[in-house]
Amino acid sequence: MSIYDQWLKVRDNIERACARSGRSPDEITVVAVTKYMSPEQMQEVFKAGLEHIGESKAQDALEKWEQLGDKGTWHFIGHLQSNKVKYVIDKFRYIHSLDRLSLAREIERRAARHGVRMPCFIQVNVSGETSKHGLHPDEVERFVEHLAEFNHIVPIGLMTMAPYVEDPEQTRPVFSRLKELQILLQDRKYDHAPLTELSMGMSNDYPIAVEEGATYLRLGSCLMGR
Ligand SMILES: *Cc1c(COP(=O)(O)O)cnc(C)c1O
Repeated sequence: MSIYDQWLKVRDNIERACARSGRSPDEITVVAVTKYMSPEQMQEVFKAGLEHIGESKAQDALEKWEQLGDKGTWHFIGHLQSNKVKYVIDKFRYIHSLDRLSLAREIERRAARHGVRMPCFIQVNVSGETSKHGLHPDEVERFVEHLAEFNHIVPIGLMTMAPYVEDPEQTRPVFSRLKELQILLQDRKYDHAPLTELSMGMSNDYPIAVEEGATYLRLGSCLMGR
């Protein structure tokens, strides 16, 4: 099946998850994760009408950017080393993996230099897996408060990755925990941190993430039919 046909199936699943949970598909932005795709396949993604793309490795992304940088809206979704921020800052419109102050400082410095305010998701390690990056849920509030000093970072939401499990239903508590954390932080009414968005849900578990309030889905393999 073509990427377009896969996307029709995925879109249908999103619509059904929305119907089950009383949500509108308009609330949801799909970020097509192109890290496994060739530039030719990425062209197919754009032709299918997907506008948002996600890359997780700065080096690979740069090569693709050379060919396709004039298309789409680029999201940096992977672990970001501070020394790579300089490559990311002027190409990507969103960063999904802000998880430490040293990285915030570097994004702030580079964003200020480029005259942009960078929308960032704060990555939270809800599941506690040691293999995953992100702040412990208990650290997030203090971290958000710290971000007030960075005028060129806009904390637009929270991001998490659920563990890979056979039965996606098991991921539900991870997503609902992130939603709870969002509600708690929004109650604080921080001027500098709207935190209106939730980046959660991947190929294996996105219908559950939609039901639990995701506003950005990061979908790779399901668009390639894997
Ligand atoms: C690869 C990746 C995805 C997409 O994963 P799939 O299972 O292929 O949908 C989403 N988010 C991040 C951070 C990734 O690295």
